[in-house]
Amino acid sequence: MIAQCACGFTELDDETLVDHLQLAFEPADRTGSDGSVHEELDRLSCLCGFAAITGDDLDQHFLSVFAPADAMGRDGRKHEPAEDACVA
Ligand SMILES: [Zn+2]
Ligand SMILES: [Zn+2]
Repeated sequence: MIAQCACGFTELDDETLVDHLQLAFEPADRTGSDGSVHEELDRLSCLCGFAAITGDDLDQHFLSVFAPADAMGRDGRKHEPAEDACVA
């Protein structure tokens, strides 16, 4: 399975799609859409009090608070997982 982003990014060995999305959306002040600051405290917990079960959980948490509704990244491009190759 090859994960791709709407911007054309394709998942690499050392950079997953989630890493890429986090990079695209993460604000410099790390303040999420809920107005709280989100920062990884240790491997599985966030400064806001969120406790993840797995590292993926924590990644998803960051994405859910940092990703804007229109999926526009800080670089002005749209970033969202391209689910299937049915985009003509
Ligand atoms: Zn958080
Ligand atoms: Zn992208």
